[in-house]
Amino acid sequence: MGLRFENIHYSYGSEAALKGISLDARKGEILCLLGRSGCGKSTLLNLTAGLLTMQSGTIRLDGEVLASPSRNPPPEKRNIGLVFQDGALFPHLSVADNIGFGVSGRAARRRVTMELLHQIGLPDVGGRYPNTLSGGQQQRVAVARALAPDPAILLLDEPFASIDVVLRRQLREETRRLAKRHGATTILVTHDPEEALEVADRIAVMEEGRITQVGTARELYDDPASLFVGLLVGNGTVLPARVTDGYAETSFGCFSLSGPTAGADAGEVDLLIRPHCAVLEADPDGSRIIDIRQTGRSQIVTLQRGGTDRLLLEIDVEPEWAVGQTVRIQPQDGPWPLFPR
Ligand code: ADP
Ligand code: MG
Repeated sequence: MGLRFENIHYSYGSEAALKGISLDARKGEILCLLGRSGCGKSTLLNLTAGLLTMQSGTIRLDGEVLASPSRNPPPEKRNIGLVFQDGALFPHLSVADNIGFGVSGRAARRRVTMELLHQIGLPDVGGRYPNTLSGGQQQRVAVARALAPDPAILLLDEPFASIDVVLRRQLREETRRLAKRHGATTILVTHDPEEALEVADRIAVMEEGRITQVGTARELYDDPASLFVGLLVGNGTVLPARVTDGYAETSFGCFSLSGPTAGADAGEVDLLIRPHCAVLEADPDGSRIIDIRQTGRSQIVTLQRGGTDRLLLEIDVEPEWAVGQTVRIQPQDGPWPLFPR
């Protein structure tokens, strides 16, 4: 149970924005919708919230039809909390009145507002007006306002995009905690992979109006469905190769394929090498290290082979290498995902 999208299509005029979205957000989970700007994330959220009218497909909440072409209840009848990039608080209402806006009954409104002001760490700002708060505080209030009526679903559309990076990390953490505490099924839209990895129980990757992969951060990292997904959710080096009989031949060596890729079809592929999946070993006949950058989390080593072939390889911080050494690449644990070209 939870929120279910069944074959959702949506077009603005002749331009198709959603091309058959089928997706489940499980009850109480935080699902991140991750994709580039323009891929259709907001369109899907706005259909769910009732800000756009369904053209085709069905959205269900706990099995019941929430929205379909023949059923489009207005936003306030959907039991959904919404937060946008700029909190869109009511400027003429106090913070407390903003938070309590959707709660019926005076006593309940007062109680819920006080509770939420404490939960967002702003117990003393209830009497102030939104324009006296910082951007981060306004977003906290917007999340509190969305959760106040105790919605079954919380929809967050890039809520931290305009907040500076340190505060953004803190707000993500807080929002995750709040959503879990209230038990709302949450969809967080973001174009920021780091945000998705930090906040989500599961991530749905969206590309040009389609969902191309759904899974935990770990599943997407270890077993990406495409090179696009692989590079979206983690660092790595792409090495062109020719596969034959369980081996991948590259200009930087010939590697035995292991795990699920061992039986890969012969042909031209791109290998994806994660930083912890390769080490360098000294080899007098190997490739020359012509540059090294220490990033703190890894070393980015530029290898040169022959006159022209160059490879930027990201590896673990230890052991440290030096410019001028000659090395070969040694595969480590874990398969190197590969993608036919
Ligand atoms: P995202 O939120 O992932 O950035 P959107 O859902 O806003 O993507 O947009 C998806 C596609 O639909 C984009 O190509 C965008 O240009 C187009 N689009 C969005 N809103 C409108 C609109 N009101 N009229 C026409 N085209 C739109
Ligand atoms: Mg958007």
